[in-house]
Amino acid sequence: MDISVIVPLYNEAESLPELEAWIERVMSANGFSYEVIFVNDGSTDGSWEIIEELAARNPAVKGVCFRRNYGKSPALNTGFRRAKGDVVITMDADLQDSPDEIPELYRMIKEDGYDLVSGWKQKRYDPLSKTIPTKLFNATARKVSGIKNLHDFNCGLKAYHSKVVKRIEVYGDMHRYIPYLAKNAGFTRIGEKVVKHQARKYGTTKFGLDRFVNGYLDLATLWFTNRFGAKPMHFFGLLGSLMFLLGLIAVIAVGASKLYAMHTGAHYILVTDSPYFYLSLTMMILGTQLFLTGFVGELVVRNSTRRDEYEIEQEIGTGVKTDA
Ligand code: UDP
Ligand code: MG
Repeated sequence: MDISVIVPLYNEAESLPELEAWIERVMSANGFSYEVIFVNDGSTDGSWEIIEELAARNPAVKGVCFRRNYGKSPALNTGFRRAKGDVVITMDADLQDSPDEIPELYRMIKEDGYDLVSGWKQKRYDPLSKTIPTKLFNATARKVSGIKNLHDFNCGLKAYHSKVVKRIEVYGDMHRYIPYLAKNAGFTRIGEKVVKHQARKYGTTKFGLDRFVNGYLDLATLWFTNRFGAKPMHFFGLLGSLMFLLGLIAVIAVGASKLYAMHTGAHYILVTDSPYFYLSLTMMILGTQLFLTGFVGELVVRNSTRRDEYEIEQEIGTGVKTDA
């Protein structure tokens, strides 16, 4: 199979028939063999019934139905696990991304040898309250991730070589940083393509302004886990050892100066009257704590559990059986 299109959706009933017809048109015009996997992320507006109808008419349409709303990342991750195409394309359900971009994205993966091609909505049709923070967000993401050639990390329209989506795990809200996840997994041929963007035709956006706060926290997590995730001791251990050492030096200084003063018969103060005493106390306690955190971190990493288990109510055509 040439292409798997993955569409995460949350209450997008009006857009679905139009989107499916458009994808089908592009695929048959280009002679691609394909599947569209709609991942219904707990919609309450009848989106799933529409997917069932579409699947009954078009065997290329497949569906996964979450029991409740888990978020865009779990939806994408579930689609990635089920994709069978050589090239995997993700696309928002709200008709803001154009299926007409598919052939060129496919070509860039197949012929130009990219692992991942991210869309760039150079001209956006979104309110200013979104486009300005987005610029800032992308600048930070470029800096932290070291992927300097991407302008639009969070574009819903992306294309992947299938080996990429099988290797990365998109959990939490990490869909904003898929290129960074891919890079951390060793896929460095990351490209960009300017794509057409349209104003939302039906419904409203599913993300509020908290996306920017959470986005930055997630970036910090990714940076940290990438640098120290597999070796937390390198961070906590170093910090802890430094603190402990400072404390030790301070305590030696306090003790030595007192002994010296006693020895020479000079005037001396109680150890507990010296500021260095408190400094050393704090430092040594903090140091031990950090060091232990490092150890605990190591233990957690060694026993890391799976984060990609969601309650799935029903599936169509993906070959995965569910009990519902
Ligand atoms: N989406 C989802 N689960 C969620 C939120 C959003 O599957 O919890 C889907 C949504 O239906 C759409 C895509 O993710 O297909 C992008 O969402 P939206 O268009 O609201 O984001 P925006 O374009 O405003 O960034
Ligand atoms: Mg949208």
